[in-house]
Amino acid sequence: MNIILLGPPGAGKGTQAGKLVSKHGMVQLSTGDMLRAARSSGTEMGKRVAAVMDRGELVTDDIVIGLIGEALDEAAASGGVIFDGFPRTLAQADALGDLLAGRGQGLDAVVELRVDDEALVERITGRYSCGDCGAVYHDRTKPTQVDGVCDVCGSTNLQRRADDSEESLRQRLMEYYKKTSPLVGYYHAKGNLRVVDGLASMEAVEAGIEAALAR
Ligand code: AMP
Repeated sequence: MNIILLGPPGAGKGTQAGKLVSKHGMVQLSTGDMLRAARSSGTEMGKRVAAVMDRGELVTDDIVIGLIGEALDEAAASGGVIFDGFPRTLAQADALGDLLAGRGQGLDAVVELRVDDEALVERITGRYSCGDCGAVYHDRTKPTQVDGVCDVCGSTNLQRRADDSEESLRQRLMEYYKKTSPLVGYYHAKGNLRVVDGLASMEAVEAGIEAALAR
């Protein structure tokens, strides 16, 4: 099963992708995570995209399409792929269709996590995560039990994303509405779109996604 989680920054794509990975043995392909990894390992490409990412703009289509092409080859033996944060433009959506078709595969569903903007600003600006195990926290709704210590693995390496400032988030939202939200219509027209209320509790969103996938 190959699925896309679609939605603006902070809609919960990464969190829900993590749940699908543990339940269904799928592979999560997050272009945001791949780009951050390229930055922290200091590759040429990582250096080129750093400033663009910090401003909250999209990196060029050819970079992310290249990353996804390589990752799809590595994921070939998995139980399916969850695309998280990709595609973000119509050109990327077309390229993904071609990449899958070239491997004799297709998309099974595109799940849109629908949320409103004010909720997103609040969600994102309070967000932090464990740099070691990836557990996600929030200043107001889900702080760590002990200040500065990850509940899951005990690490003190808690991090905030450089692009989770309010200014960068506004830019990311603008990019979403200008370039990514047309994909809602695109996949609707293709008959793949399923909409889930992304503002419900984490458990309700998870159940909504499972129901959407079972349809
Ligand atoms: P994310 O973790 O998905 O919020 O992505 C963080 C940042 O990485 C975005 O704000 C973009 O600068 C860049 N990025 C991630 N995925 C893509 C993509 N599919 N196309 C273009 N830029 C991307």
